[in-house]
Amino acid sequence: MIFRSAFPDIEIPSLGVYQYATRNINGIDDSKPLIIDGVTGAEMTFGEFKRDSKRLAAGLQDKLGLKKGDVVAIFSPNQIDYAVVFFGIIAAGAIPTLANPLQTPNEFQAQFCDSTASIIITHPLFLATVFEVAKNCQFPLSKIFLFGGEEKDGIKPYTELLGDREAEPVVFTKKEIKEQPAFLCYSSGTTGRQKGVMTTHYNAVANCEQYKAFEEPKLNPNLVFMGLLPLFHIYGLFILSVSLSSGATIVILPKFDLTLFCTTIQKYKVNLAHVVPPIVLLLTKDPTARTFDFSSMQVFTCAAAPLGESLTKEFYDLYKVPVKQGYGLTETSPLTHIDITSNPTFGSVGNLIPNLEAKIISEDGKELGYHEHGELCVRGPNVMKGYWKNKEATDACFDSEGFFHTGDVATVARKYFIVDRLKELIKYKGFQIAPAELEALLLTHQCVADAAVIGVFVESEVTEYPVAYIHVKPGIEQTDELKKDIQKFVAENAAPCKKLRGGVVFVDKVPKSASGKILRRQLRDRVKDDLAKL
Ligand code: AMP
Repeated sequence: MIFRSAFPDIEIPSLGVYQYATRNINGIDDSKPLIIDGVTGAEMTFGEFKRDSKRLAAGLQDKLGLKKGDVVAIFSPNQIDYAVVFFGIIAAGAIPTLANPLQTPNEFQAQFCDSTASIIITHPLFLATVFEVAKNCQFPLSKIFLFGGEEKDGIKPYTELLGDREAEPVVFTKKEIKEQPAFLCYSSGTTGRQKGVMTTHYNAVANCEQYKAFEEPKLNPNLVFMGLLPLFHIYGLFILSVSLSSGATIVILPKFDLTLFCTTIQKYKVNLAHVVPPIVLLLTKDPTARTFDFSSMQVFTCAAAPLGESLTKEFYDLYKVPVKQGYGLTETSPLTHIDITSNPTFGSVGNLIPNLEAKIISEDGKELGYHEHGELCVRGPNVMKGYWKNKEATDACFDSEGFFHTGDVATVARKYFIVDRLKELIKYKGFQIAPAELEALLLTHQCVADAAVIGVFVESEVTEYPVAYIHVKPGIEQTDELKKDIQKFVAENAAPCKKLRGGVVFVDKVPKSASGKILRRQLRDRVKDDLAKL
């Protein structure tokens, strides 16, 4: 059967992402602080945000010849002016692609080349990575700019692009709003390597509106959001867009630090915090958190990975603030499900947000009913257009009825529960790890003949760790030193979130199907036993 959202459909405004973020439906004043740097206390008002994003758009057009449809890479941790850069690029009619700055040069290069970015805006701390990519790709250094306002190693700050002219933000036609990517986040989807997710203007605007229609308390300019989630991930970007378009204030943090997080809640009287399960765990287990005043908090929303029932209860008993779950994917802009604030159900991701339909299907594609377990598929205005320049991968994740296959196993009772994952993806503290990428990297290790990487859920950390199954080359001894060397090799050649924290297991051969596909299910079934033997 096809499940429909129980909520009435809402009308999605036909607006570009820039126009949506600045349309000021709640009538805030230009002097209202919209974005606060939680570390320095610096503030950016609504007026400054609009002015600087339009000045940047003008600078990109006038000084660099940026054209509609060009791609610009942002390779930076959260900054108070990340929104100026992100929306400035969009105001110029171009497409930002957002990248995790902790990626290695090879990893960033893959995204940079795939996205066909023609300008890079980075942070001084990550300039070395960008230099290496620029060298490998013969990319002109004059097309690299920095956050932070200072020149470094001959690279100018992006603020030097700001002139006096404020560009008229590019207005997209109705057709373009539905068809043109507003931005490109990268996701491995159900299989393979990272791919550019084409989130159209319509997708992004729809998802903000779907969420706002559902969310309690109703979003308004008096609210203060926690802006902790990385803005290169769609979950962080979504919260930023929701906050800006509501005229609320968002306090940006560069990374998670327990004391900083708690101080920020207390100091800025934060009302809404969007987090991932390991943060809920820390807030529950670490007594430091309890010494802070959380009385301003109205709700914690936890998404990106499963949050268990007992931890949710323990958290609520401690803080008397509800922690509810949301669920979604980069490919769904991101939200598809969220629980209600007033009465969350432990362990559930809640209900379908408005305008969405879902079906749960069996392995052979049959539609299932209530209480049955199967793959969750969704259809609606927030589902991406497809993968950037990758028709094959796009075709593989949509069926003939236009449903997007999530690769997650769910069941529906009164609400939805995510119970398993079919796809290859591993998630470490909300960050994606694509096994195919780690496997390709492992195959370049001099002792490795074959490799398979799977995730193992570690209860004590409420997250998955990647584990590598390794078949060594003939004549190579299977020693603990080699395991350590393989772990070190991954640590040195992949982003920190991808470290083989789960360990290395030697096997005589990697189990594969007749067609050569790794039988991950077999490995997942045995991984706990294998690790216990180590
Ligand atoms: P991403 O595209 O990085 O946002 O990752 C999306 C994936 O994260 C989903 O397909 C799920 O596997 C997982 N995920 C997100 N939210 C939840 C949740 N609340 N419970 C379980 N898994 C989740």
